[in-house]
Amino acid sequence: MTVKQIDKQYIAPTYARFDLQLVGGKGSRVWDETGKEYIDLGTGIAVNAFGVADEQWQNAVTAQLGKIQHTSNLYYSEPCALLAQTLCQRTGLKKVFFSNSGAEANECAIKSARKYGELKKGKDYYTIITLKNSFHGRTITTLSATGQEVFHQHFTPMTEGFVYATANDIEDMRALVKTHKCCGIFIELVQGEGGVTALDRVYVKEVESLARENDLLLMIDEVQTGNGRTGSLYSFQNYNITPDVVTTAKGLGGGLPIGATMLGERAQALFSAGLNGSTFGGNPVCSAGALSVLSRIDDTLLNEVKEKSKYIFDSLTGAKGVISVSGLGLMIGIESEKDASEVIGACMARGVLVIKAKNKVRLLPALNIPWQDLKTAINILKEELAR
Ligand code: PLP
Repeated sequence: MTVKQIDKQYIAPTYARFDLQLVGGKGSRVWDETGKEYIDLGTGIAVNAFGVADEQWQNAVTAQLGKIQHTSNLYYSEPCALLAQTLCQRTGLKKVFFSNSGAEANECAIKSARKYGELKKGKDYYTIITLKNSFHGRTITTLSATGQEVFHQHFTPMTEGFVYATANDIEDMRALVKTHKCCGIFIELVQGEGGVTALDRVYVKEVESLARENDLLLMIDEVQTGNGRTGSLYSFQNYNITPDVVTTAKGLGGGLPIGATMLGERAQALFSAGLNGSTFGGNPVCSAGALSVLSRIDDTLLNEVKEKSKYIFDSLTGAKGVISVSGLGLMIGIESEKDASEVIGACMARGVLVIKAKNKVRLLPALNIPWQDLKTAINILKEELAR
């Protein structure tokens, strides 16, 4: 049997996979089992921050593998402690809870808001406002936080306590704050799965003020936007706001599973021993990989992310077949005249991997993608958009 046949027979069919098997790669190049090479503008959905088989990252991970691969959270562990220190020092947040995925990081954020509401206002102040068209994960509670009806189908009853505001409409959010007993506001600053759209800057500042005036935790989901993706280490740093909780995952581990929930001044004391936990959370190998990733996201790299972003926007805005280009940094959505799936398929046939978000072609290249690879890939994409 081929890998595809085995997969079809034995794996629960929750994914609509491309007809492509990846077996290896180097940097922004990946290859299939026939040896055909592709320039990868998807990075495993914003995970392989420095591409595939990056030596610095590999060295950090394998060095830790040679020492101890897992400790459990019953004991202290250096990579995990240093990672928390780095995250706090670089964001201004105060404490970190580690888990294994974006959804789990978000679960912890939701718990923190509920505890905050209970503490500050009483047990019935548990409602969290999220945005329509958001995406926060696949557990029942993070699906419930996700403001897209389609994700709720078949799984009801959903976790109660979520209401959805229209993005960029502060009056709508104000009305929800008035009519519900709320404990927090939880938003992505660039909606990723929702179609790669960045929130308005003025709106985000107004949301921050609303959260402060009503003593609500302001929580930012940086699972996709985090770790250099938008041209700053975390996207909230582009918006000049001070969140109470920031969640991240994906690119943080550079390819290994790790989630982090960062807790600010107002949220740092919410958890005590036993109130949350995770067997693998803060695993030393994943933490060593994450430390290596963060150590390379400096101003030089972030400026490069911004330059490459500008290059993509300039190349594609107004180009033939392009309706609009949206996003921030190296998280870009292209609304095309042609069906996005058709463009994606045509690019794949020509050796360029791009992915989809709603009706858009989505680009999430490695933060350090070589200029020449980027230019070659964007030219091919441009030709396919125009065809
Ligand atoms: N939050 C956002 C903004 C995401 O984009 C995703 C995944 O795409 C998640 C949460 C869920 O992350 P995970 O798949 O690691 O659970």
